Amino acid sequence: MRSTNPGFVPDSPFSRTLPTEWQNFFSEFPKAELHCHLLGTTSRETFIDLVRDSGAPVSMEEIEGFYTRGEKPVGVLRIFRALEAHILRKPEYLKRIAIEHMACVSKQGVRYIEFFWNWTGLKHFMTFEAAQRAICEGLREGEARYGVIGRLVPSIDREATPEDAVELVSEMIAHREPESIGLGIDYRETNHEPENFWKAYFMARDAGFHITAHAGEFGEHWRNVETAIDLLKCERIDHGYTIIDNPELVQHAKLLNMPFAVVPTNSYYLRTFTDEEWAQKHPIRRMHEMGLKLFPNSDDPTMHHIRISESWYLMFNFLGFTLADLRAMVENSIDAAWVTDAEKAEWKKTWLPEFDRLAAALPPLA
Ligand SMILES: [Zn+2]
Repeated sequence: MRSTNPGFVPDSPFSRTLPTEWQNFFSEFPKAELHCHLLGTTSRETFIDLVRDSGAPVSMEEIEGFYTRGEKPVGVLRIFRALEAHILRKPEYLKRIAIEHMACVSKQGVRYIEFFWNWTGLKHFMTFEAAQRAICEGLREGEARYGVIGRLVPSIDREATPEDAVELVSEMIAHREPESIGLGIDYRETNHEPENFWKAYFMARDAGFHITAHAGEFGEHWRNVETAIDLLKCERIDHGYTIIDNPELVQHAKLLNMPFAVVPTNSYYLRTFTDEEWAQKHPIRRMHEMGLKLFPNSDDPTMHHIRISESWYLMFNFLGFTLADLRAMVENSIDAAWVTDAEKAEWKKTWLPEFDRLAAALPPLA
């Protein structure tokens, strides 16, 4: 028997010590990961290698600081900015990061993964076309080697201008790759409202790309979630936590069957809640109680020190969800994936019975 609290997560009223079979279960059942930033999957070892290879002026102390997650974790955006400003000088670095993460998640039951990636902060080093080609090569190699299907979601840097976002979408339209399937938006939501980027979103939608948006993260107003749904016409929402402050908007999202890609290790709530409050008051619990369609994701796994399997484990063992809830969330992750209806039907036919078979073999919990 052992406990695998990832370390910085508070123990919760729901946590218990799980037998090894249960620990393994979270890595075994099939799942989709739909909220994962390519740069947020860079391992510490690879980061050090890339700093060496690129000759970037980043010290070992800084790198150690980037990979230290405190009890009250700060965000990871400064790490991405260091990568963009100094380190990611060659498209093949991006390819390497993608392949390495596909190898990693193949051991955690992931059958399908969508990576967000930002070009705007990298354009001083490389063209969109070259960067995208390199990552797509990585996705193809990753699938061939590890059996995980990988897709790409270029993402708007909302700290840059709306015109930069339009440039990004123009590049997406000019250089289409089959693996590149949608548009997202990330970086700091505070003071960077989603409506500023309507033009880029409309262009992407008109060109046939799927769309999603980070909204209602960092405690930002539910209005951003409403804007993402009603103005931008997003097909799913990343985070979306503050929707719980507006029951009418919750009803609206439910009528639309809107999926929410949530992140149990979101730094904002680890930082702002006390250890006693964290599990009880986490908005993910309230979202579920209100009937929203959720599934857990890792966001920035190497920097949050979390494997995707542990994100699912936290939902069960720290946030109080049941096995039946997790099964429904596997189904939600399939519904939310940007694949064909035939693929979704096939995955439901195979993944869910596999979940049931693995769950049935688990020893009873004391
Ligand atoms: Zn994110």
